Amino acid sequence: MAWTSPFSLPGAWYRGNLHAHTTQSDGLFSPEEVTAFYRSVGYDFMAITDHWVYTAGTRSADGSWITIAGSELHGEGYHMLTVGTSGLPDRALAADPAVLAAEVARLGGLAFYAHPYWTGQTYDKLVTTPAVLGIEVYNGVCDQEVGLGYSRNEWDEALCTGKQLYGLATDDGHGGGGHKALGWVMVRATELEEGAIIEALRKGNFYSSNGPAITDLRLTRQDGKPALVVRCSPCRSITLYAAMPMGRRINAPEGGLITSAVLGVFPEQRFVRVECEDATGHVAWSNPVFMEDLLD
Ligand SMILES: [Zn+2]
Ligand SMILES: [Zn+2]
Repeated sequence: MAWTSPFSLPGAWYRGNLHAHTTQSDGLFSPEEVTAFYRSVGYDFMAITDHWVYTAGTRSADGSWITIAGSELHGEGYHMLTVGTSGLPDRALAADPAVLAAEVARLGGLAFYAHPYWTGQTYDKLVTTPAVLGIEVYNGVCDQEVGLGYSRNEWDEALCTGKQLYGLATDDGHGGGGHKALGWVMVRATELEEGAIIEALRKGNFYSSNGPAITDLRLTRQDGKPALVVRCSPCRSITLYAAMPMGRRINAPEGGLITSAVLGVFPEQRFVRVECEDATGHVAWSNPVFMEDLLD
């Protein structure tokens, strides 16, 4: 299906955390305390994702804040983040992640693999579950506690097989040392309402970040050939990832920062995704687009 950049869609950008634990499972703070933290640091929405506990969505009286339904499920060798379901799947289904993810979809929700690097999930285990929409490319707690928060290689290897997977940045906070805003998604939606956020996530109309902002991403032509224009907050590099090794990195001049890049795209790349890295090493990730959609 022809790609439409989320940056050209009507609506607004909403910032959210899709992975958080509370006293309902192994977190240190109550759901009320955790949601109060994210509201206080400028988020628009979040999901409370306790282990095998279903937490339904809520909406503030003035509509300026929502939570969306969430849970974190697991079985042998995987953790699965779910949002937007109408309830919790039967735990017996966890023996097969493909069956569990299909049940999540049947319940109206979205399934993502949490922290593949931390779990030891290699790319081949990410591509055999059709109903799984994406992975956490960044998990804040896995990075801070054991250095296993970034799952870029697993993501690219899976994408190279032709499997579309979106990339989430999340916190996975349990409250040790206090809750922190480490990674988030920026969702392009028509309104701050659970159904609209879930549909935007389902279509990939979001980007992820643990620091910088992407401010535009669209298809253009350069010297008569297709190219992607990327705009972002000041960064030291903008990188196009593609089927290996056909990507390209644009570096800022020594001591400087850049806020845009134009990167050529061609069918042999098979898919492209963009990373913008700021001067402190923090990153914003676009979702991948496959060439049959981009150059349709
Ligand atoms: Zn987990
Ligand atoms: Zn978790």
